[in-house]
Amino acid sequence: MTRTRTLHSGLSVGWICGVALAAALPGSAVAEGVTDAAIMNDQQSTNDVLGWGMGPRGQRYSPLTTINTETVKNLTPAWVFSYGGEKQRGQEAQPLVHNGKIFVTASYSRLFAIDARTGEELWQYDHRLPDGILPCCDVVNRGAALYDNLVIFGTLDAKLVALDQETGKVVWREKIADYKAGYSYTAAPIIVKGLVITGNSGGEFGIVGEIQARDAKTGKMVWQRPAVEGHMGYLNGEENGVTGTTNASWPGDMWKYGGAAPWLGGSYDPDLDLIFFGTGNPAPWNSHLRPGDNLYSASRLALDPDTGKIVWHYQTTPNDGWDFDGVNEVVSFDTTMDGKPVKAAATADRNGFFYVLDRSNGKVLNAFPFVTQVAWAEKIDLESGRPVETGMRPGNPTASEDGKRGESVFAAPSFLGGKNWMPMAYNPDTELFYVPANEWAMDIWNEPITYKKGAAYLGAGFNIKPIYEDYIGALRAVDPKTGKIVWEYQNNAPLWGGVMTTAGGLVFTGTPEGFLKAFDAKTGEELWQFQTGSGIVGCPVTWEMDGEQYIAVPSGWGGAVPLWGGDVAKRVKFLNQGGSLWVFKLPKA
Ligand code: CA
Ligand code: CA
Repeated sequence: MTRTRTLHSGLSVGWICGVALAAALPGSAVAEGVTDAAIMNDQQSTNDVLGWGMGPRGQRYSPLTTINTETVKNLTPAWVFSYGGEKQRGQEAQPLVHNGKIFVTASYSRLFAIDARTGEELWQYDHRLPDGILPCCDVVNRGAALYDNLVIFGTLDAKLVALDQETGKVVWREKIADYKAGYSYTAAPIIVKGLVITGNSGGEFGIVGEIQARDAKTGKMVWQRPAVEGHMGYLNGEENGVTGTTNASWPGDMWKYGGAAPWLGGSYDPDLDLIFFGTGNPAPWNSHLRPGDNLYSASRLALDPDTGKIVWHYQTTPNDGWDFDGVNEVVSFDTTMDGKPVKAAATADRNGFFYVLDRSNGKVLNAFPFVTQVAWAEKIDLESGRPVETGMRPGNPTASEDGKRGESVFAAPSFLGGKNWMPMAYNPDTELFYVPANEWAMDIWNEPITYKKGAAYLGAGFNIKPIYEDYIGALRAVDPKTGKIVWEYQNNAPLWGGVMTTAGGLVFTGTPEGFLKAFDAKTGEELWQFQTGSGIVGCPVTWEMDGEQYIAVPSGWGGAVPLWGGDVAKRVKFLNQGGSLWVFKLPKA
């Protein structure tokens, strides 16, 4: 499945082995393996982008300043690379950069290695997908992980594949779960202490969410931690305790197909040695079938990377009835609150609330809405950490006359979320988070449902609607201490791409209309934009090469909005698909 176009960049190796020759030439590229230390230092090292989040804490902050509020107006394309073929749809990846190569994943479980200087393709891996895969929300992939000489990514048929960075050849391949039961995989794996760590997808099919850690060099399983109470965890092939307490927060057998898919992947805090993963909706959506909190669905989990033990949890939406997946990224940051230093973490939830947690214990320090309408809860009680619900929960179908459809409610945000998967960024200079938010609501009602392997397991119907005429998307600069929105940029279509911020005082994100945009991080003033030809729903990155600062972003409209968006999908149906990687830099002086 691997097509190799170029193995060595023009070096005539003759009879001398390539490695020996390269070693003899100063400055030539001997492929250096990616180490754990390099991954931990990723945010500080400006010559590479080694993992999801542009650093283990997931701040998506670069210390680079060459492209800044003064110079960004001159930003110009260096090259563009087409993913080709007929396989377009959503391009949600974050590219990686190492040793002069870019590794970017694409729709339909593809991975490209590209020469970062020229845009020339080095090799392409096309995963052979079986018929009958069940991705809920488009055929997307959000990125790969680098470790040693490997580039590792997950596929829509719930496999994990490790390729040689030089050749694209498969080094190992492992099964995460059974795609026939509704499992899939779309996140970027993370690497922590030599382990490649993944969640899984499939929360709309009654799967069981699970976090898995494998030896990154061999693919051998080290630990598994299910996210639903009652299921057994494993460490080195031995039983390692049930998650939670069986039936403590789930009735009957409902936990057996309880959902809670940790489908967006995780982050890691080296200071506390904790992994953070969020978990998706409990299954099915009809909450009347599962009275109780339904742990650990719609939660943030802190796990011990050595054992997979859950160290703490914080549940954002207990007994979720709106598909408010709690998967969104947990971003570690150090700050002061009430004059005291705090090891904090922030996360912006589908349910419309922005949370600041003490990342050592999961206690809520602050919580406030980051969208204009939150219909389902009045506030988050900071003492108990629990939402104070308004009672706007879709009704129980068994209370209806024919038992087939419960009372419909108008709920905000919609289940596509005040913020969905697209990651926010934190700038330690401004001490602000830059949150890609959306303003939309939904009519939602419940229906009867029973579990059937490989079938949708919702028990709900819905229609998503815009709230405002002139915009849905809103990039918001959020002060985590005060809850104040310092500035915002409004966008006609829903925002669905990741955000990046830099020491150059900039914030970058893309729009479904196709623009990559740069804003002043302090004021929100729009300083630059470029039309990439299709919608941007991927994540921008930046790095330094040959003394110049580069920016890369995938372009290609798609994702969940066109598939699930109801009235919103109709409003954005003019947007064209695509599939390309754009790279920008400043012109040489
Ligand atoms: Ca780096
Ligand atoms: Ca969901």
